[in-house]
Amino acid sequence: MKNFLSKQRQAGFYSIRFKSSAGRLTTAQLLTIHELAEKFGAGFIHLTSRQEVAIPFVRQETLTEIEKICAANDLEISPLGRIMKIVTACQGKAICPSGIIDSPAIAREIERRQGGRELPNKITCSVTGCPNNCMKVNYNDIGIKGAVEPHFVADNCIYCGGCAKICPVGAIEVNKQTWTINRNKCINCGRCVKICKKAALRGAIGYKIYLAGEILPQFIDSEENVYKIIDATLNYFAEHANPRERLSKMFERLGSQNLTQILLSDKILPK
Ligand code: SF4
Ligand code: SF4
Ligand code: SF4
Repeated sequence: MKNFLSKQRQAGFYSIRFKSSAGRLTTAQLLTIHELAEKFGAGFIHLTSRQEVAIPFVRQETLTEIEKICAANDLEISPLGRIMKIVTACQGKAICPSGIIDSPAIAREIERRQGGRELPNKITCSVTGCPNNCMKVNYNDIGIKGAVEPHFVADNCIYCGGCAKICPVGAIEVNKQTWTINRNKCINCGRCVKICKKAALRGAIGYKIYLAGEILPQFIDSEENVYKIIDATLNYFAEHANPRERLSKMFERLGSQNLTQILLSDKILPK
């Protein structure tokens, strides 16, 4: 049975947490949370690092009543334990001017496929819309970041050097008649594509993935492959991790090369 109540320091009191949908709660849901905090809590809420709303000072015997109110008001209680945790997201391209990808939509799809899955230990996952990395996805077990891969269209280039000047990591070099990029340096921010007024840089939209804080070198150009990488990582973790072992510890013990090999041979990761 899923556990929804986390014990407090104060005897007899528990904290209960409510899910947001990739960081979003409707005003109606907030009103329900307000009602619950007034009736069953201590009149305040706490925001968790996983974009949940917690109500502390709840008594165990009120759980059934809280569950009924939640079911009637489209509010979901967040389960505790060794599971795939709620997937967090920034507002992404639908709202943020810097956004490259629709972070909440991707987070919801990951949640739909893997949310709440029981695992050897918890897995945290977050989606951030661009290299600004507001969600600090590298501090999650699995992180997804919106990315742009610039492609050069030589016929349109006037070799003005604007792209080289704006590149924050000095990945582009422009001389009189040559344009070169160091893809190992490029952080896929897309600034060069935005600044070029001659359509000499075409930006492919894609994703960079972090596993246990380490970025995979490949640029992932398909959303479906993002989901496949996450599915394969969780399957591998479920099969190979020791009980209560975190993803990073499993990689420390076994290395990540076997998982990478699976992803490469299934053609989920480009070579
Ligand atoms: S990560 Fe990028 S898209 Fe997401 S909120 Fe920050 S700046 Fe906006
Ligand atoms: S900004 Fe555009 S036109 Fe200028 S050097 Fe870069 S690619 Fe060429
Ligand atoms: S995408 Fe960003 S980091 Fe990469 S070359 Fe362009 S400006 Fe530089």
